[in-house]
Amino acid sequence: MPQSPVHSEIRDGVALITLAHPPVNTLSRPVRRTLLAALEDAEHDDAVRAVVLTGARMFSAGADLAEFDSGEGLAEPTLHLTIAGFLDEMSKPSVAAIAAVALGGGLELALACSARVAAPGARLGLPETTLGFMPGAGGTQRLPRAIGIERALDLIVTGRAISGVEAKDAGLVDAVADDPIGEAVRIAAETASGRRTRRRLRDEPIAEPLAAALIDSARRTVARSRTASAGVRAALEALQAAVSAPFDEGLATELRLFIDLAGQPEARAARYRFLSERSARRADAADALPVTTAAVIGAGTMGRGIALALLHAGIPTALVDTTAEAVAAAREQMARQLERAVSRGRVSEQQMHDRLAQLRTATDIAAVAEADLVIEAVYENLAVKLDVFAAIDAHARAGAILASNTSSLDLDVLAAATSRPADVVGMHFFSPADVMRLVEVVQGRLTSPAALATAVATAKRLGKLAVVAQVGPGFIGNRIFDAYLRQANLLLGMGVRPERIDRALEAWGMAMGPFRVLDLVGNDVPWQARQGAPADPAWRWADAVVERGWYGRKTGRGWYTYSEDAAVPTPELADVLPAATAGIDDDEIVQRCVLAMVNEAAAVLEEGIAADPADVDTVMVHGYGFPAHRGGPWFWAGLRGMDRVVRQMRRWTADDPSWQPHPALYAAEAVNA
Ligand code: NAD
Repeated sequence: MPQSPVHSEIRDGVALITLAHPPVNTLSRPVRRTLLAALEDAEHDDAVRAVVLTGARMFSAGADLAEFDSGEGLAEPTLHLTIAGFLDEMSKPSVAAIAAVALGGGLELALACSARVAAPGARLGLPETTLGFMPGAGGTQRLPRAIGIERALDLIVTGRAISGVEAKDAGLVDAVADDPIGEAVRIAAETASGRRTRRRLRDEPIAEPLAAALIDSARRTVARSRTASAGVRAALEALQAAVSAPFDEGLATELRLFIDLAGQPEARAARYRFLSERSARRADAADALPVTTAAVIGAGTMGRGIALALLHAGIPTALVDTTAEAVAAAREQMARQLERAVSRGRVSEQQMHDRLAQLRTATDIAAVAEADLVIEAVYENLAVKLDVFAAIDAHARAGAILASNTSSLDLDVLAAATSRPADVVGMHFFSPADVMRLVEVVQGRLTSPAALATAVATAKRLGKLAVVAQVGPGFIGNRIFDAYLRQANLLLGMGVRPERIDRALEAWGMAMGPFRVLDLVGNDVPWQARQGAPADPAWRWADAVVERGWYGRKTGRGWYTYSEDAAVPTPELADVLPAATAGIDDDEIVQRCVLAMVNEAAAVLEEGIAADPADVDTVMVHGYGFPAHRGGPWFWAGLRGMDRVVRQMRRWTADDPSWQPHPALYAAEAVNA
């Protein structure tokens, strides 16, 4: 028998109804059904005078987002009308006891109770607008009645959560208590006996004279904003209804806006991103070995960032490079970075000192001897890395996990340089490694489950999203991004200027256009990686740029020419590129580049390099600047319809046979149909 997601017991004439639906008490349909039944029982039981509603560990993190796409989210019993309405109409008062978290639908449920009690450190909020949608179960109507329009605007627009203490100051909860259930039972009994007035937020006026003006001003600000989400716009409209219409009308407006919004691509992409990232955060770490100390080899750009990330997570770290100057420079730069973090209020002075105290620098690879995890981040050169892995193998303790940050070399070859290939795993961080959230964890042919799990668990401990990739050229991200860059380069041959390609893709939402990315990375880096591969005419202009020494930002000139405060398209490119034409419009530029990612993603999935389309999308959004509001290349293609995508690719095959749609796209087309 599955455990019931809701428990009831009677305490001193008060029905204590507890949500017990791990891990976060989402208000999925089975929970709503059982909750409503428990409320009905309490209403009809003469031994019950009042209800306290609470949750095991936490109150509730809100709706089950997966239910929005299945339609179950709005199926009976609904939270917005049926359950909240039942609480409003019950003859007995109800009090919400919030021990840890009441977010989204969880807070909306609490707002439908007669009173609320929170633990001082509890977190309460309506984060819906940060997920591309809006509160849809009365939040926009009851919250301003509880705390006023000004505060409600702040909480709904920013989506931030507040503590129990702050919630008490604002009037969102009636009491703060270390034992919220005990206090809630007391308040419930007091209300039932008439010693305390029962409040129904639906009956309360919004008594702020400036309410309408405040909303108006927020709407004007949002109208001017380029970044405000559709969720914020809709939430403001619902708040407008709260101040100008009777409660039930406001509730109906909120629901209409909510349903409209939930079907929009932006909101669907946001839900998809949330669910995909949650699964990346929850990747299985059951076999993980403990990591109490770490070592990083190579104190360059990546090594420093990785070491900082380890120190931020409280893991003492040894940083090794070949010379005393190199490690001293690294320590100094990391200290400066920590100072900047202090000045921005991100870490305290004490934390900065603690972190630096946990950093050991060395020039002798023997410093890896104590580490549970060694991460190699030396030059991207196979011979150098083979030497380094042999040296790590000679000094690391038995059972230590040996990771490489390589972005393009074959992990299996590196593993073979050691006597313990099962302990070798890839941890492909992104630059800057202390900031970027993505880590591709690469599983070699012989990587053990424990090594894989340890890499995943460590990435998570560092606050990162870990996506597992199998060995293959460029893993998931670089391989797909390379197909995109290649397509951007082919457009040059069709007479499209690099700055136009950049502008079109940036306007579509890419964080940075492909040629700006190339200038930032250094045009010599992919050029180096191309040496040894069969010649591909797609890169002939990129090669020409490198031959002229135009490496990008580091040489002051690449596709753009850089000065102190500006970048202009390099004029001499006119001598390199074919004559500019206007035949291709911005939409086609975007489609060609993005669909190249989609076609390569199909191959990556088919070959098992990535296990799941959601992993592909997480990598592209978090590592390569793909617009989060479009979900990811695979999700975007699915929304457009794989059949359309396939038809478009087929049309392009007339001029370029490499556009042959990957067979996996046909399979996806069949699934979508
Ligand atoms: P970098 O040139 O900034 O740093 C490499 C460091 O390794 C240098 O300080 C060098 O002195 C040191 N080193 C070389 N040989 C050594 C040895 N035998 N023992 C100890 N130290 C040695 O390079 P980087 O950009 O930090 O890249 C390092 C690795 O990270 C490469 O594999 C690269 O492909 C990968 N990577 C780089 C990026 C990026 O954006 N830069 C992103 C992801 C992965």
